Amino acid sequence: MEYISHPRIVLSQRFPNSVTGDDPLAQIIDGRAIAADIRKEIKTEVDARLAEGKRAPYLAVVLVGDDPASAAYVRGKHKAAAETGIESDNLAYPATISEDELLGVIARLNDDPAVDGILVQLPLPDHIDDQKVINAVDPEKDVDCFHPLNVGRLMLGLSGFKPATPAGIVELLLRSGIEISGKNTVIIGRSNIVGKPLAILLLQKGTDATVTVCHSRTRNLPEITRQADIIVTAIGRAGFLTADMVKEGVVVIDVGMNRVEDASRESGYRLVGDVDFDGVSKKASLITPVPGGVGPMTIALMLRNTLDAAQ
Ligand code: NAP
Repeated sequence: MEYISHPRIVLSQRFPNSVTGDDPLAQIIDGRAIAADIRKEIKTEVDARLAEGKRAPYLAVVLVGDDPASAAYVRGKHKAAAETGIESDNLAYPATISEDELLGVIARLNDDPAVDGILVQLPLPDHIDDQKVINAVDPEKDVDCFHPLNVGRLMLGLSGFKPATPAGIVELLLRSGIEISGKNTVIIGRSNIVGKPLAILLLQKGTDATVTVCHSRTRNLPEITRQADIIVTAIGRAGFLTADMVKEGVVVIDVGMNRVEDASRESGYRLVGDVDFDGVSKKASLITPVPGGVGPMTIALMLRNTLDAAQ
């Protein structure tokens, strides 16, 4: 997959500050609208395949246990797949499934030529080794891009799948018309699914960011973030990045998805990011909301991988 070279700007109206009603400086990067554009592009390619007499791409989603959050993510993935014409099924198993049984499921999906993409919803129950299951997925069907072979290809800058959340972040930046080349980019978080692969993508020739990766042992974090042109937070702590930690005009991408109690909601909670949105949006030039920022992009880029797997 190539990133587009002529970014289309999809920015929503300025949001009023939800606490003070003030007009913040930042414009909101509308992840929902950009992800919808990507789904339309995928649909056009799927339709072209069908017109050539080829079958629709097929994604198998493996869900173990009954965690409501995982079930909700999986529903979102099927809904988005249906919009693009990609066929998908949920293969749901009880939390009591053994590791060997699950590896058997993966082996059958690997051998099935009608299956283009395999997605195992993480985390798995404690008695199952996530990495062992990831390693068992055929790298050519690994649409999450978690398999060590695909991670290695990414590291070397070879063609192949791109990890969905990091690739979604780069697309958000490019399609919002943000120049990345040479920019001082600070990522907070070094996980294998967000921080580390994002650093690799941003460093690639052609993207050319200057990248700093921070984590829980980083010293003087605010001093580092105050020098950033672009900040990506992938920590998992509500409201962690505050206005005093950023410079005027910074671009902020908030990957965090944190549940905070909210008695006014039927569910009893709402989703917030790692960024103190009301404070930081007054200094930032561009910022992603949570929800409606990175989340929809992750799903769109995973579908892009599924189409690429089928092609
Ligand atoms: P993770 O594996 O828990 O990693 C969190 C990272 O944050 C770690 O590297 C940790 O440092 C660092 N960290 C924690 N506290 C810190 C602090 N006080 N200062 C600096 N760094 C700190 O998390 P993840 O899987 O990457 O996910 C991060 C967040 O993104 C979560 O809220 C998750 O729900 C969300 N997420 C969203 C999407 C999406 O599509 N929107 C996709 C994936 C994840 P150490 O390594 O030193 O412990």
